[in-house]
Amino acid sequence: MSRSWRLVLAGIVAVILATISVVAGVQLLKQPVDIKPPDQTSLLVVPFGVAGDETSLPDESVLSALIEDLRQSLNIEYSIAKPHILPKALLNRETGQLRADLALSDVSQRYRRSGYFRVLGVTASDITIPNYNFLFGLADRHGFACVMSVHRLSWGADEELTRERIAKIALHEVGHTLGRGHTPDVGSVMVYSDSLSGLDESGSRFTALDVSIILTKIPELAGKVIAVEPTDTDE
Ligand SMILES: [Zn+2]
Repeated sequence: MSRSWRLVLAGIVAVILATISVVAGVQLLKQPVDIKPPDQTSLLVVPFGVAGDETSLPDESVLSALIEDLRQSLNIEYSIAKPHILPKALLNRETGQLRADLALSDVSQRYRRSGYFRVLGVTASDITIPNYNFLFGLADRHGFACVMSVHRLSWGADEELTRERIAKIALHEVGHTLGRGHTPDVGSVMVYSDSLSGLDESGSRFTALDVSIILTKIPELAGKVIAVEPTDTDE
């Protein structure tokens, strides 16, 4: 073989290798979210927004604070997904609010096979469902996914109160996915509230009753789902 033919062959091999590595790179980029196989009870927090609206994604600092607060009541592994952008078609045409029910089914379907135990979608868009003015959050009861909005939670509040409200809504919606319904006990985070004042009066943690109901449904969370300490003990 002549020297020039050998050079051509080497060139062809180099081009093929380069193509393979570009394809592999594209495949890596296409991987949806978290590559690490999750623990059996880990929860994925998915920041989501609407195409064309940069203000619809929550700040990263909000997500890390939310996880720190959730961990007080649900001591499991947490991960944060890459931001997920929903199409404008999911907006309510009249009000411009994001349809929480459509966002929930989108997030649920997208991450159902991710291996995570539960998924919590968080948006800064205002969310609603038909016949409601707005929602703080929405969950599949006994389900896999829930979504929440931080849009209204800073209204009339300082940073500390805003964080408290965000943590309450997150735990409330996650509580629904663990099979806990609403309670009339205002000391519990599982009390229903449809106003900021109602939310501010509600408890911020699971009660012992909430925990026992969750554990009858999901016994593998024993030791991981934690009730607020009673304040009226003798010690
Ligand atoms: Zn609820």
